[in-house]
Amino acid sequence: PRKQLIVITPTYNRALQAFFLNRLGQVLRLVQPPLLWIVVEMKTASVETAEILRKTGAMYRHLVCERNSTNVKDRGVHQRNVALEHIERHRLDGIAYFADDDNVYSLELFESLRDISRFGAWPVAMLAQSKNKAILEGPVCNGSHVIGWHTNEKSKRLRRFHVDMSGFAFNSTILWDPKRWRRPFSSAIRQLDTVKEGFQETTFIEQVIEDESQIESVPPGCSRILNWHLHLDAHHLVYPRGWLFQKNLDVI
Ligand code: UDP
Repeated sequence: PRKQLIVITPTYNRALQAFFLNRLGQVLRLVQPPLLWIVVEMKTASVETAEILRKTGAMYRHLVCERNSTNVKDRGVHQRNVALEHIERHRLDGIAYFADDDNVYSLELFESLRDISRFGAWPVAMLAQSKNKAILEGPVCNGSHVIGWHTNEKSKRLRRFHVDMSGFAFNSTILWDPKRWRRPFSSAIRQLDTVKEGFQETTFIEQVIEDESQIESVPPGCSRILNWHLHLDAHHLVYPRGWLFQKNLDVI
C-alpha cells in the first residue's frame, strides 16, 4: 500500500488567502491518495476557509489553534504545533510535511515524499519579489549523500541545518516514539514556541537527526527543484475597476 502523506498548512485570513488555498488544494487533489491535508487557523475556523477546503476535493481536517498570540513573528508556529499534537494524539501514521499556503509545489514533490523512510530534506528555491532573483536553501549532495548546504545566511555559524520550512519531511512515528530519538519529541514541539524567528526549522530538525548522514535527499541526489518559496505580498496588487476586493480574495 502507498504511504499516507500528512500535509500541514497554517493559514490566516488575508487578501491572497483564497488564491493560495485554492492553488495548493488543486495540487493536493491530484496527488495519489492516501493524503490528509491538515489546515490550521487561529482562533476560529472561518467559513471561507471551510468552503474552499470542501470544494478542493482533497481529504482534509480543519483545525483551530485556540492560543492567543498577538506576536506577528510567530508566523504559524502555534498552528503547526496544533497539527503535530493532533497527529500524535490520533496516531496518524504517514510522512508529515509542513506546506505553507503561499508556496508553489510540484506534484512530483508529493509523490517523492513517499520514498522517505525517516527524515528527508531537499533544496527549495526562494523567490523574493524585492530582490528579483532566486536563491537556494537546503542540502548540497554528492551522490545521494548530503555534504553541505546552500544558504543565504551571512554568518554560517548560526544555524545548524539550512533548511526551509517547506524543505523537509519526516515519518510521523517519530512523534510518539521518544525512544528512537535523543529526547522526548513533545518537549521539542513545545520548544518551538520560544524559538527565535528563522530558527524554527533548524531547532525542529536538531531534535530529529544528529547529523547530515541521517538525511535522505529528495529526490536522491537533490537533482531537481520540486518546490518554490515565494515572498509575495498583496500591497501592490492592482484590480480591475469594479471588482470588490475582499479579505480572502474571493472576488464577487
Ligand atoms: N501564517 C499564519 N498566520 C500568521 C502568519 C503566517 O497562519 O500570522 C501562515 C501562512 O499562511 C503560511 C505560513 O504561516 O502558511 C508562513 O507564513 P509566511 O509565508 O508569511 O512566512 P514566511 O514564509 O514569509 O516566513
